Amino acid sequence: MPLPISPVSPLPHLLDPGFDLPGWLQAAGQPAWRARAIRRWLHGRRAESFADMTDLPAALRTQLEAATTIWTTNVVKHQLAEDGTEKLLLGLHDGQRIECVLLRDGIRRTVCISSQVGCAMGCVFCASGLDGVVRNLTTGEIIEQLLRLARLLPADERLSHIVVMGMGEPLANLDRLLPALAAAQDPDGLGISQRRITISTVGLPPAVDRLSDLNPGYHLAVSLHAADDQLRTRLVPVNQSIGIEAVLAAADRYWEASGRRLTFEYVLLGNLNDSPEHARSLVRLLGRRAALVNVIPYNTVSGLPWEEPSDVAQTRFLDILRKAGTNVQVRRRKGARIDAACGQLRRLAASHEAAKDDHGE
Ligand code: SAH
Repeated sequence: MPLPISPVSPLPHLLDPGFDLPGWLQAAGQPAWRARAIRRWLHGRRAESFADMTDLPAALRTQLEAATTIWTTNVVKHQLAEDGTEKLLLGLHDGQRIECVLLRDGIRRTVCISSQVGCAMGCVFCASGLDGVVRNLTTGEIIEQLLRLARLLPADERLSHIVVMGMGEPLANLDRLLPALAAAQDPDGLGISQRRITISTVGLPPAVDRLSDLNPGYHLAVSLHAADDQLRTRLVPVNQSIGIEAVLAAADRYWEASGRRLTFEYVLLGNLNDSPEHARSLVRLLGRRAALVNVIPYNTVSGLPWEEPSDVAQTRFLDILRKAGTNVQVRRRKGARIDAACGQLRRLAASHEAAKDDHGE
């Protein structure tokens, strides 16, 4: 039997800032200030339904219930790994699927969220883009991921960090993403400081420049993965029409606008971009930039031919960077048992369904 999906909601999405809640309240003969109270219930106080909003007039709760919807997604799968990582596979109103993850690291409570269904960038080692992009997420759907993940925490814990490193290319959906990240900073809601929000991008120069102009307060992580254009285009096909120089120039402009240290991500693929020569090229390319290099050992994606880097190759690569004075961080693998590398669970669920269909179940 196919996994259940939520029905299409004909009602406006209350979590979407595009819905004019103050206007709706006024039209319903209510004071507009109640909008703030309702938002506080949903974002900060973790209300699940209108029934939880006990200080609102009962009649208003009934009216809201009839006229709007709070949740447009349903939890198709909820997985918990031994290291405390939790992963949600969410069904969207149109039957699409996205993933989001809660990571526990010391006192940090980080969520990793998706910005699109699928991805158009085509990075050859990434599960999210294997089937291309389906659509952008709405602002409400992005906010819903944050709120669903926040509700996995005990009442005395709060989310501390957001990384937009799930499915999709966030800079290809900036207009929906930015209002969601603004909502996450609301002190009445999740109250996450902007400095603790990271946007990870493949590096689309015009969009990076737009972000520099609009709001350079976020921490920017640029997925580099190679130090020369030939190899980068092989790994990140969208590089073909952009080129590393343009990516770095846009990243430098963002750095100037933000004054915050940039991060460059480098997925280490066994026998592909993990040699000492690759490490030395990366050092030369980054030169004297005050950047952090985030080395991510490749997470195996079933069906793809790439290899994890050997321990020896990893150590050698990191040593060369460190000895050259580069700031390096290795992203420890979290939630491996639950395929926490984004994009994998969605494909897994889809392939199970396909297999079941094949068998006529
Ligand atoms: N589109 C954005 C967000 C992608 S996910 C971007 O390109 O930055 C965040 C990071 O995870 C990216 O650096 C991406 O290249 C990396 N990644 C994707 N698949 C991976 C895999 N199988 N193993 C390790 N890292 C992966």
